[in-house]
Amino acid sequence: SAQTAMTAAKQSGRENYRFYDETISNEMRQRLMLEQQLILATEPNADLGLQLYLQPKVALSDSRVIGAEVLLRWEHPEKGLISPADFIPLAEESRLIVALDRWVFARSCRLLRDCRREGRPMPRISINLSARQFQEPDLVSWCLETVKRFGVEPGELELEITETAFIDFADCVLERLHGLREAGFNLALDDFGTGYSSLTYLRRLPLDVVKIDRDFVADLCRDGKASTLLQGLIQLLDKLEFDVIAEGIEQVEQVALLQGIGCKSGQGFLFHRPMPAESFVALYQSEQ
Ligand code: C2E
Ligand code: MG
Ligand code: MG
Ligand code: MG
Repeated sequence: SAQTAMTAAKQSGRENYRFYDETISNEMRQRLMLEQQLILATEPNADLGLQLYLQPKVALSDSRVIGAEVLLRWEHPEKGLISPADFIPLAEESRLIVALDRWVFARSCRLLRDCRREGRPMPRISINLSARQFQEPDLVSWCLETVKRFGVEPGELELEITETAFIDFADCVLERLHGLREAGFNLALDDFGTGYSSLTYLRRLPLDVVKIDRDFVADLCRDGKASTLLQGLIQLLDKLEFDVIAEGIEQVEQVALLQGIGCKSGQGFLFHRPMPAESFVALYQSEQ
């Protein structure tokens, strides 16, 4: 169908995901619903067929790993790896996304705890939080209880949030964001430079990091105006004391351009693809 072709096209050049179709969609919906109870308990030991993948973040100057982003993967017994781009929107249709994010959060804490127990070093890791999460009154207390449960410090985690969470600037959303920051979590604005991005967010939101969206990075080599705009933006972000990281770096030329305009860290297939957690831990350990 046209939809299948479109989704396949969207994913070509990304990872080796299989074709997305209605069958997967319906099956996934059912399966996710069935597992909802389990996930709702956010039992990090539950085997949901879901896995944490980690994509390294690197220093552009020497490509050394400085962090990692946790990206969810669904391993289908016959269909292989299914992209979160296919199941996250489904989960976002309901509060299921809240449970799913919390499962990822708890698993990430468990990973940090296990590494510490085994004496294996880990950098700060980032977790994606859906905008939906900010509708939950217990967000801050849940996050704090969970890190405590695993003996992890909030500062070992960074929470990535897209601006869709703040579209209406509801007081309670801002309050929760402040609560997380005061608790010691690092906060990153994800996918900056697309959608409705407004400089207003930068002034009003308590953020540590701004992630430049990969569409912006992709335009860099094509267009001189794109790099002028990004250079201005990076200078501005720097003055406002945000850390900046560029997403979706695929070409060597992009690295030089980004460094030339003051961007010091990045993430992208050129350096590393997302990998199973164990592979990441080994990679990071080998670099220390
Ligand atoms: P995101 O948070 O912006 O994550 C970055 C996405 O870009 C990831 O896609 C990553 O694999 C991909 N990427 C990284 N480097 C490159 C590159 O050089 N080129 C290209 N073309 N892509 C690159 P992924 O893993 O498919 O995730 C898609 C989106 O799904 C994420 O976008 C995030 O919004 C969402 N997502 C993933 N895991 C979770 C989760 O646990 N919770 C929530 N709420 N959302 C998640
Ligand atoms: Mg992200
Ligand atoms: Mg992003
Ligand atoms: Mg993105």
